[in-house]
Amino acid sequence: MKRKIMVLALALCLLTTAAVYAGRGFSMKCQAQPDKDATTGQAEKSCGYEVEVTFGGGMFFDQVSGYCRACKKFVHVRWTRDNIPANMKGRIKATSRPAPLGEVWDAQTGKVMTIHACPTCKGPFLEIKNADELKYCPACNKPGFGIDKSKPELAID
Ligand SMILES: [Zn+2]
Ligand SMILES: [Zn+2]
Repeated sequence: MKRKIMVLALALCLLTTAAVYAGRGFSMKCQAQPDKDATTGQAEKSCGYEVEVTFGGGMFFDQVSGYCRACKKFVHVRWTRDNIPANMKGRIKATSRPAPLGEVWDAQTGKVMTIHACPTCKGPFLEIKNADELKYCPACNKPGFGIDKSKPELAID
């Protein structure tokens, strides 16, 4: 399938025309089947949660993405890369990668997961590396959360 690619200018990109797109943004949507009402057997209202999520950084910045349960939204921790050209330094405020809150080990999968601080509430959120890792809808917690293929994918530079 052919997908339209749009360039999402994230304020930091002023120079690039032939950038290598590192980050990707997707329109994601809850595609979970709604429950049936126990008494009437009628399908309940579907969740319909829809959101744009970006993964990975651009030319001059990098980011970690995740979902903050307390804030009920996708959040990003961003920092600038070291390669900012000298003539851009005045325009881009350099920030360093914030230290994560910590790591946890998941006994069921053996994975070590990094916990970051939500920029809004400072509470913990787990890093989501790419769209494939999003299996459950953050709003209704049912399986069936995925890319809305009718919407264009965003390239971040
Ligand atoms: Zn938060
Ligand atoms: Zn949902």
